[in-house]
Formats: sequence, structure tokens, C-alpha cells
Amino acid sequence: SSSIAGIEKARIEACLKAETARFIDRNPRSRQLGQEAKAHFPDGVPMHWMTDWGTPFPLFVAEATGARLTDVDGNAYRDFCLGDTGSMFGHSPAPIMEVLARQGGHGLTYMLPTEDVPVIGRLLAERFGLPQWQVAATATDANRFALRWARAITGRPKILVFNGCYHGTVDETFVRLRDGRVIHRPGLLGQVTDLTTGAHVVEFNDLPALEAALAEGDVACVITEPALTNIGMVLPDEGFIEGVQAACRRTGTLLLIDETHTISTGPGGWTRKHGLSPDFFVVGKAIAGGVPCAVWGFTDAIAAGMKIAREKAGPGHSGMGTTLSANALALRALRANLEQVMTDAAYDHMLAMSDRLAAGIRAVIAGNSLPWHVSAVGARAEFVCGPVPPRNGAEAAVSMHGDLEAAIHLYLMNRGFLIAPFHNMTLTCPATTAEDVDALVACIAAACGDLLAGA
Ligand code: PMP
Repeated sequence: SSSIAGIEKARIEACLKAETARFIDRNPRSRQLGQEAKAHFPDGVPMHWMTDWGTPFPLFVAEATGARLTDVDGNAYRDFCLGDTGSMFGHSPAPIMEVLARQGGHGLTYMLPTEDVPVIGRLLAERFGLPQWQVAATATDANRFALRWARAITGRPKILVFNGCYHGTVDETFVRLRDGRVIHRPGLLGQVTDLTTGAHVVEFNDLPALEAALAEGDVACVITEPALTNIGMVLPDEGFIEGVQAACRRTGTLLLIDETHTISTGPGGWTRKHGLSPDFFVVGKAIAGGVPCAVWGFTDAIAAGMKIAREKAGPGHSGMGTTLSANALALRALRANLEQVMTDAAYDHMLAMSDRLAAGIRAVIAGNSLPWHVSAVGARAEFVCGPVPPRNGAEAAVSMHGDLEAAIHLYLMNRGFLIAPFHNMTLTCPATTAEDVDALVACIAAACGDLLAGA
């Protein structure tokens, strides 16, 4: 076919070419910094994902506050990417700025607890419903540690993930389902152990497949997001997650709900809104307002199981923890974020803005008769260039169109809008205004007009 998701391939190519030229024109300082940085950083970036934006060279940032970001060439952006969730509550929220100013002169990391600890424990338990907590530096680490504990406690060797999942760079989750078989995730580098023997992979929304896998009795823990948000967006069928929880209970399998992205649902995440009771609960990225931090919660039964597992293992190293985890600065920021930033009022605003954005994009899609759709989990909305919402990872993968998405992203960037790279995800933060939302919708409409020109 000569078209992709309703857009002529020739138009996608032409748009990509024109927008790439425009990007180069607009960003001479970024281009120069990219060249300079290449002397000591492969591809000129300190972390290789920073080249994954579909731009001819990385955009270098000067500063950001609230929902606005400015690049080193002085171009201003309305930011709907928000650091791919790390700044989901806005860049530098005022309470976090105060924490940075106050704690700055009192030491940043001691490998000892502070007075904030009991307060944070109470705040986390009240908000998320789980009684026991630990703090890690990243969501990746939190997931990794929780899965290790799950194996230690149950004595079972495997985990179960859904096809298309992402939980950070946690080794054992880097598997996919292809033609009914578990394979390593394409592109995975440097793997020396065979991950396909440590994990079951089934499709999301396929309860019979999950139940069949759990019946084997070798799964320590099912790890999932309540909705898959890293392969476009896949929403759970009514009752699916509850069904997963029930199947776990029946088979003595632990359940880890990773809310790193779905914390967009509301103040207590999807778990609280839908009354789930997982064994483990993880949230990272934005939980300390942009300061590196993640938390993972668990039940009293898990805490008791940990004690037994530790006694059985005897002295030595658990294989969990990192030196800067729960440092004094992260704890201060975590507390301030929970107390002053992640408020009901903040969520009311974020959700209203996201609803407005989703409705606006839906109108653009309908007005242009495009075979696209919009899915949302609270303050996180995603437009997907496919006609119907996918029900699982395999269906979602088919709706991801690299060049088309890159063309749209570049078009938006060149006109002052950032959305998350890799897919078409937008986040609204407490500082996002209705005017920001309407401007983004108008720009998406203009991008569609450009892509459809001559059609
Ligand atoms: N869990 C989920 C659901 C995620 O989306 C991500 C990152 N995209 C992570 C965990 C890992 O977060 P981090 O990269 O901060 O460790």
C-alpha cells in the first residue's frame, strides 16, 4: 500500500524532510553542542536514549519551569513530555525548589535515615494502602528488588510478564512473545543468561493464557502495569486486572503492580481507584517531584516472608539496594512531593486538562476521517495511528509507525511543543493551562493538514 495509517507515504517522507531541515535551521546552538559533546560522549549524549527523538541531532535544553521548557537556541516549548514522566508534576514545583534550597547546605547523602522516614512511611501507607515500604533510586531498581524478593519468598524460579511490557531495564522482563514462544526482546545487548527460561510471557487481556501459565506452579510473581503504557497504550478489559489478581491468589503467585506511569490515574494510582490489593506496588520517576527516587510497598505477609528468607539465606549480601538510595535529599523531596505537590487539587486540574486534550485530538481525528484513536489513563493521553484500541501488545505493536510518528513529533517540536518520544504520549501537569492544551490541539490539526495536503 502507498499509505500508512491513512497518510500517503510520499507525504510522510516530504514532511519528514521539510521538518528536519526546519529543525536544523532553528537549532544551530544545539547542533554545535552536539558536535562538541561527541568528543567524549558517543553520539554526543550522556545517555543514549537522548538521541531517540527522531531529530537530526539532540535538542539541548537551557531550562524549564512548570509546563514550559526553553532550549539553548532560545526556542520556547509547551512541554507535554515532562521528562517522560519524571516531571509529571511540572518542572521544579515550588515545594521541591524549597527543599533543594533548604537541604543544599545540610548534606545530601549519609547512608543513614533522617527524621523524614516515619512521616514518609505514614504518608505512603495512607495514600497507597500498603503497610510496608522501601525506597530505591529508580523504578527499575524497585522492580528488580521486588522481583528478587518474590523469588526468595516463594522459592519459585519464574516471573510472568505481559507481551509488550516495560518495567525499566530489569533483566528478567526483557522477553517477548513471538508465535507463541518466549524470545529475548529484539535489540537486547550483552545478555549472557537465557532469559526465556526465567519468564512466562502471555498477551495482556488474555486471562485463560495467564491462568494456564500460573497453573504450572513455577511463577513467583506476575508484574504488570494496570494498563500497558509503553507500547502505545493498551487498556485493560473490564475486570481483567481483578481477574489477574484473583488468579494470582488462587495459585499462590505474588502480584506486583507497577504504577510508575499509571500514577497519572489519581492521587493513589490505578490501584487505589480500582480497589486492588497487590502484594507489591511500585512507583518511581515523578514520586519525588523530579529528584531521583522510587518507592515500593508490600504487605505485612511479604514483610514476614522477607524475614524468613533472610534467616534461611544467612549472612552475606542480598543483591539488593544501592548506595544513594533513600538519601537525605531524595527523602526530603519525596516528603514534600507527597505532602504538597501530589494533591487532590493538582490531580483535579491535571485530569481536566488531559480530558480536554483527548477530546480535542479526537475531534481532529474525526474531522479528518483518520483511522486513529485516543486512549487515556487519567493525566496521560496517547493518540495512536491505528483504527481501534489494541487489546494486547502484539496488536499495539502493529499500530506503531516510526516515520509517521517522527514526522508529527518534528512538526510539533518545530512549532514549540514537546510530546514523549518513542510513541505519541502526552502528559498534563498542574501548570498546564487550557490555552496550552488548545494550542497543542491546533498544532496537531495543522500537522494532520500538512500530512494530508493533496490527498
Ligand atoms: N516502570 C514503568 C511502567 C516504566 O514506564 C518505566 C520507565 N519508562 C520504569 C518502570 C523504569 O523507570 P526508570 O527508567 O526511571 O528506572
